[in-house]
Amino acid sequence: MDKEIEGESLKKRNRLDPSSYLSTAEVYFLWYFMQGSIMSPITRQKLRNSWGFCQRHMLGWLLIESAFFHNYLHGPSILLADLIDRASYCFKFNPIPSILAIRLRTKEECMMCSLGYDINREGFITEEILAQSRDTSYLLKFAMETEKFWLKSLCNKCFPGRSNKNILCRPHLIDELLHGNYSAIDNQKAYIQYLNSQISFYSKSFQWERRHTETLECKASLISAACWLKGWNEFIDFYSHRS
Ligand SMILES: [Zn+2]
Ligand SMILES: [Zn+2]
Repeated sequence: MDKEIEGESLKKRNRLDPSSYLSTAEVYFLWYFMQGSIMSPITRQKLRNSWGFCQRHMLGWLLIESAFFHNYLHGPSILLADLIDRASYCFKFNPIPSILAIRLRTKEECMMCSLGYDINREGFITEEILAQSRDTSYLLKFAMETEKFWLKSLCNKCFPGRSNKNILCRPHLIDELLHGNYSAIDNQKAYIQYLNSQISFYSKSFQWERRHTETLECKASLISAACWLKGWNEFIDFYSHRS
């Protein structure tokens, strides 16, 4: 199991250089991942056990998807809707804090980390694909357009004083449930239900008969969901260093 609250690994890298977000091997993995392996039942189960990727690989995945699909984020919307729906289910049937914490914990390490993908690993990818993978402008545009909504979801422990005091990301919520005197479970449950409805609506908006029904609010839930699952530091660090 990976540690739930992750540090700020971006500190070691140059935030202004897109090439420092992902190594060539990581680009290679994510490129093939989004081509179809995301749909494999084994992969899906692993991602459920680990509640998605770690913070850095979650950001990397969104960067790659947005760069190649020009913000047509169908794949991430499906996976994140599935994970948030599972979280919502946990809240529904586990009212005792310690039991809820156990249900929300990761059972497996981030799939990419466990396979040894890190910022120093080199892989084989064409110059063309590599260049496209380095285009962070699509995710930044998506984030800027939806900022008004995802800002309301900031975790109070990831960013004390800048956020809604009743909302915590999953790792910080687990920590509070196990060691603190967290008394806002009802607020958190209501938030997850809200997030579930928004990300579900967004993922369904890719269906042909529901095309063009997406709103900025439901699009923002993609960022909120990814950051609720793993914490906000990497994403905010990436976003706050935009030019
Ligand atoms: Zn990872
Ligand atoms: Zn947090």
